[in-house]
Amino acid sequence: MSIQNLIDNNIAWANNMVEEDPDYFKRLSQQQKPEYLWIGCSDSRVPANQVVGLAPGELFVHRNIANVVVHTDFNCMSVLQFAVEVLKVKHVIVCGHYGCGGVRAAMGENEVGLADAWLTNIRDVYFNNEQKLAELSEHDRVNRLCELNVITQVYNIAKTKVAQHAWDRGQPLSIHGWIYGLEDGLVKDLGVTQRSRQDLNKIYHLFATSADNRPDIPFSPVTY
Ligand SMILES: [Zn+2]
Repeated sequence: MSIQNLIDNNIAWANNMVEEDPDYFKRLSQQQKPEYLWIGCSDSRVPANQVVGLAPGELFVHRNIANVVVHTDFNCMSVLQFAVEVLKVKHVIVCGHYGCGGVRAAMGENEVGLADAWLTNIRDVYFNNEQKLAELSEHDRVNRLCELNVITQVYNIAKTKVAQHAWDRGQPLSIHGWIYGLEDGLVKDLGVTQRSRQDLNKIYHLFATSADNRPDIPFSPVTY
């Protein structure tokens, strides 16, 4: 399929949408009110909106290789902050998928490039669960690591200021861990939903500190 085909497809799609609902784009262009943030893998076989049957405007989406949530990733953190604090989404869904190439690469010894640094996060998940994973066949080991990776990212979101401050404000926010099956198209809930900071180890608890009562940290200018 040539790139022109994609443009043609777009024209056909836009015309079709207007035929079905003449105000469709006008309405959608004025505001978005999604209730869900989807954090998924960039894998082309896991199309977020189609998987959960939601229309444009109903799902805020962030995707990266192997659906990893890292606190120093400004991209992911900005999406999370905007989704929770501005759009006020009620649910964050981390959705991984079985047979994830990123997870598989993180288990291998071959260099893949820049993504190796990114996938170190998944090697850490493997390391923390090494004994249990070692008992499984190779196929099951990849798929179990796909699940454990999702679970880790759910907790990583719960550890953020954004999630904890939302809970402090009494804003309803649930963080879900799901996994998608490429072979059957079905999503499985991994049963690790976070609805408060209660299940989080105390070391990760963050409480808002107003500018007024922040500890006074002495400023020492750096001299060269
Ligand atoms: Zn993937």
